[in-house]
Amino acid sequence: MKLLTILGARPQFIKAGSVSREIAKYPHIKELIVHTGQHYDANMSDIFFEEMNISKPDYYLGIGGKSHGAMTGQMMEKIEEIAIIEKPDWIVVYGDTDSTLAGAITASKLHIKLAHIEAGLRSFNMQMPEEINRILTDRVSNLLFCPTKTAITNLRNEGFGEFNCSIIKSGDVMLDGALYYRNLAKKPLIAIENEFILCTVHRAENTDNIDHLISIIDALNEIAQERQIIFPLHPRTKKVIEEHGIELRFTPVEPVGYLEMVWLIDHCSLVLTDSGGLQKEAFFFQKHCVTLRDETEWVELVEGGFNTLSGSNSENIVRAYREMKHRISDFSCKLYGDGRASRIIVESLIAQ
Ligand code: UDP
Repeated sequence: MKLLTILGARPQFIKAGSVSREIAKYPHIKELIVHTGQHYDANMSDIFFEEMNISKPDYYLGIGGKSHGAMTGQMMEKIEEIAIIEKPDWIVVYGDTDSTLAGAITASKLHIKLAHIEAGLRSFNMQMPEEINRILTDRVSNLLFCPTKTAITNLRNEGFGEFNCSIIKSGDVMLDGALYYRNLAKKPLIAIENEFILCTVHRAENTDNIDHLISIIDALNEIAQERQIIFPLHPRTKKVIEEHGIELRFTPVEPVGYLEMVWLIDHCSLVLTDSGGLQKEAFFFQKHCVTLRDETEWVELVEGGFNTLSGSNSENIVRAYREMKHRISDFSCKLYGDGRASRIIVESLIAQ
């Protein structure tokens, strides 16, 4: 069996790391990796391939730093050429980026079976590029691997039960990774105080809207007077902060590799983020989270009191921080499966 895996962005390398490790246990499965180049900085791309032992991409497309239309179109053109040559049994895509959508449309037009890992998630906010990518990818997928019960319900509500596809509750591949890499975690070589806060910001709704970003940074500047904030700065956010001369009254750090990130999540006292993946990882490591957005795809975290939505308003963020830093929760519920999602995914692909 031949799989053509399409990757392009940091969270996809992290998710694929666990699935590729599982695929490698089956000598009759050949996995070819296409890296679209959507994320291309060494600390946003290469380091994950090295740390997670993902084999070097078989094809590197070098399509990054362009508009959504240009990237998706150029990726589709190249993925189509590769798929025609390689004739894979399956194209495998992850999550909700432009690389996901490009792989999905190409597979469906060439009548190659498509597997979507992390299917069924919805924010119900069609302003988000990720929401558009998710909905369209799900619609043309043959195998939809859902991380949560909510994801399955979303698909059922949209009528997917009537479509020619299989919906499988696999659990979340990010949990597989978090469990596997926890013991390999590395403390970053920076001064770290007790009870620090881990923060990331990169969503378009917070970086493209300068008022949102200024408001978030105002809140972080205030919180930083009380507790150290470790803020690995996404290149997109860094660019906007520099272009607009926004004053950060504490020192951010460069994006870190996954092993350092796992250490930071495991040792922080609270997470503030607009990242999708980090909201879940906070839960895996029994940390509360303030989500710097108005809605989330991971609603079960909010319902369970593990996460709260602050949006980008600075007073709301500070209020949420003060409330969440004292919250006590029982994190024992298994919202994201039991860490065997990759195995379920690979066994399902073999069984098809
Ligand atoms: N991450 C990382 N280094 C960093 C920041 C994030 O390894 O400096 C990891 C994080 O732990 C999570 C993933 O990158 O596993 C999330 O990616 P991102 O926030 O870029 O995307 P999203 O999850 O929002 O799609």
